[in-house]
Amino acid sequence: MKPTLKLPTFEERLAEEDLVLSRSETKILQVNLGKLCNLACVHCHVNAGPHRQELMTRESVDRVIEWYGKASSINTLDLTGGAPEMNPDFKYLVSKIRAVRPHSTIIDRCNLTILLVPGFEDLVEFFVENRIQVVASMPCFTPDNVNKQRGEGVFDDSIKALQKLNEAGYGRDPQLLLDLVYNPLGGTLPPSQKSLEAEYKEALNSHFGIEFNQLYTITNMPIARFLSQLKREGKSEEYHQLLVESFNSSLIEGLMCRDTLSVDWEGRVFDCDFNQMLRVPLGDSKPRNLWDIEASDLPGTSIAVRDHCFGCTAGAGSSCGGALSH
Ligand code: SF4
Ligand code: SF4
Repeated sequence: MKPTLKLPTFEERLAEEDLVLSRSETKILQVNLGKLCNLACVHCHVNAGPHRQELMTRESVDRVIEWYGKASSINTLDLTGGAPEMNPDFKYLVSKIRAVRPHSTIIDRCNLTILLVPGFEDLVEFFVENRIQVVASMPCFTPDNVNKQRGEGVFDDSIKALQKLNEAGYGRDPQLLLDLVYNPLGGTLPPSQKSLEAEYKEALNSHFGIEFNQLYTITNMPIARFLSQLKREGKSEEYHQLLVESFNSSLIEGLMCRDTLSVDWEGRVFDCDFNQMLRVPLGDSKPRNLWDIEASDLPGTSIAVRDHCFGCTAGAGSSCGGALSH
């Protein structure tokens, strides 16, 4: 039998290099508007899908708006889900934020196909009016890989949605940013972000006339649906070992949990979206709501780490904004 390798925990690995991970000034508020989604992708770390009922209520949305209006250091609202647009208060939230903080960056993490679903066809117009930055999942530029991860027909719909966004000025007008997100199909690290971006640009433009701004490469987190997939394939230990052995200490300063605050559909706060999924509260403290904390109290406080954190520090690193080193 193959001997089991004793690998360090994330905390032990930080200690080995005398590294301390703590929060800096919060610059991004990432809000999960719920788990409802029109897709059910195999790599989804939120376990989102069409039958999920969890959605942020209007009352909580109002509390988020009030809190954000006062948190002057934070200038980016990053909306995620599920499909964030499926929350009935999505447009209400965006419009209110535009009114209270007109110069904020508002990001919508969009699965693209939602833009073609009946009842959501006017979303692109709404995005343009509110200068929303669209960050869209597009795990490959060929149909097979996309359909395998996201479901049959998703590639064709994603292409149609990207063309619709381009026609409205996205990826062309400097005010209308369109970024794409790549993640590997299985238990491997993403390739170089820069060279993959060049390949995406070439392939999407020559075959479909599509233009976009940046490509973000994101490492698959060994949690939730992706972890179940690895376990089914008997590859979870191998993937964990790959992440641990690819630890890159130079990435600690730039980890997204340092300047991003994550909020779930009930208003609870976390150091990141992954900790949110695992229900590991902000700073390993008692569970708190966004409206129970002040952004100005966060710098210098500790970050709750677990072994999935190796997913952020492997190779060129990974965050909601893509690789951490280029
Ligand atoms: S589109 Fe996004 S939120 Fe929806 S199931 Fe796929 S990965 Fe999850
Ligand atoms: S998983 Fe979350 S807490 Fe851990 S390193 Fe990544 S962003 Fe930070």
